Amino acid sequence: MVGLRPDSGSTRTMPVPLLKADQVTKIYGDGQPVLILDRVSLELSEGEFVALLGPSGCGKSTLLRILAGLVPPSRGQVLVRGEPLRGVNPAVAMVFQTFALFPWLTVLGNVELGLLARGIPRWSREQRAREMVELVGLKGFETAYPRELSGGMRQRVGFARALAVGPEVLLMDEPFSALDVLTAENLRREFFELWVGRRLPTRAVLMVTHNIDEAAALADRIVILGANPARVRLELPGLPPDLRQVRGPERAALVDVVYRVMTSPAAETLVSAVGQPEVPAEAPPVYQMLPHVSLGQVAGLVEQVRARGGREDLYRLAEDLGLEAGDLLPVVEAADLLDLVEVVEGDVLLTEAGRKLAVADPEGRRSILRRQLLDRVELIRDLMEALQASPRHRILAQVFRSRLEQVFSRAEAGRQLETAIAWARYVGLLGHDPRLDVVFLPGWGQAGGD
Ligand code: ADP
Ligand code: MG
Repeated sequence: MVGLRPDSGSTRTMPVPLLKADQVTKIYGDGQPVLILDRVSLELSEGEFVALLGPSGCGKSTLLRILAGLVPPSRGQVLVRGEPLRGVNPAVAMVFQTFALFPWLTVLGNVELGLLARGIPRWSREQRAREMVELVGLKGFETAYPRELSGGMRQRVGFARALAVGPEVLLMDEPFSALDVLTAENLRREFFELWVGRRLPTRAVLMVTHNIDEAAALADRIVILGANPARVRLELPGLPPDLRQVRGPERAALVDVVYRVMTSPAAETLVSAVGQPEVPAEAPPVYQMLPHVSLGQVAGLVEQVRARGGREDLYRLAEDLGLEAGDLLPVVEAADLLDLVEVVEGDVLLTEAGRKLAVADPEGRRSILRRQLLDRVELIRDLMEALQASPRHRILAQVFRSRLEQVFSRAEAGRQLETAIAWARYVGLLGHDPRLDVVFLPGWGQAGGD
């Protein structure tokens, strides 16, 4: 497991954005000016795939053109690695919905175009173009003309042309929406595999789409724009990469949340109040049942057992502590699950880890509990892995809740997640933002952008 050592994650900081829209406002029209974009801020960092979702006509293409430096903002600015952009942005390349190929040029000729504009010599231009044509799966079609290609193949040329220049940021304007459903699905999957396999010569991707499921299938982060004028309504973390391409309950849950945000007037208050979609289970994950007690109670139990010489009869313990067995048992169960005690013939015994915990100072205690949680609690391990796998280390809690619903009832799934989050927070493994219902690694509490 990568990066799950107890103390990892506490000193991370945000990377410097590769590309940033800083309070970008756009007004069109001379006679009757129309406000299209209203102070839109958005940033893109190394390694991120961000989807920009918004209704048709809200100004998504306008924002991409502004980021590409093809259209100036009316107010605000674009920053490229922190520097204000003047003129055309040399750090980006664009993939268009309508492919925008030149009919009189071959596949290779179309792919070479961007390189031509950047003054690359002929020989290396052609070699680079051939590499890109192969990367997008068009080897053998180098000398074909666009009219001889299907829509999917034409868009492959569009990808190859944009990627040929090795842009820092790839901007894609509804790149799959002119294709039929199956072709789009295939191309999307291939593109995603190249991206997660780090085989694309670009550092970040910003994709405009009006298709929620497409955003959920691809993005690390989803930025939702409203219309008239376009403002950023909400930013949500996407799914961990291994859950994106699967049509599972996690993706359905994310789509549902985004859909509700897009169709409701007050997005921010809604995220944690949504219901869950019904999705048939495929292979349900295996999770233990976590007893709903606090780690403070567990530590208290361990201390009590140590004070009695490291072993005590359950019944006497309950009596001495003035507890009903029914109240003590979940605490014992939690301690047992964390391998701090074992129960033998009605007696509670401290384990090795339990003995260490009982004599540790507060920081040592946290560190022992952290290790036990990561070793013993499947759900916390999965949460941490998913957080590590997300570039901004943030996840919508709802995604895990719907995963748990494959194992537990809806109400119990909610309680299980609540307990797991409470335990993990207690030892500083993660944080939780109840307003957005987002869990995050320490240091990643703030959403990107403004
Ligand atoms: P989207 O890509 O989200 O569908 P666009 O960015 O293409 O939206 O357009 C947003 C709005 O700006 C639309 O109402 C469109 O008519 C208007 N618009 C786009 N370009 C221009 C322009 N050059 N001059 C005037 N209005 C424009
Ligand atoms: Mg558009």
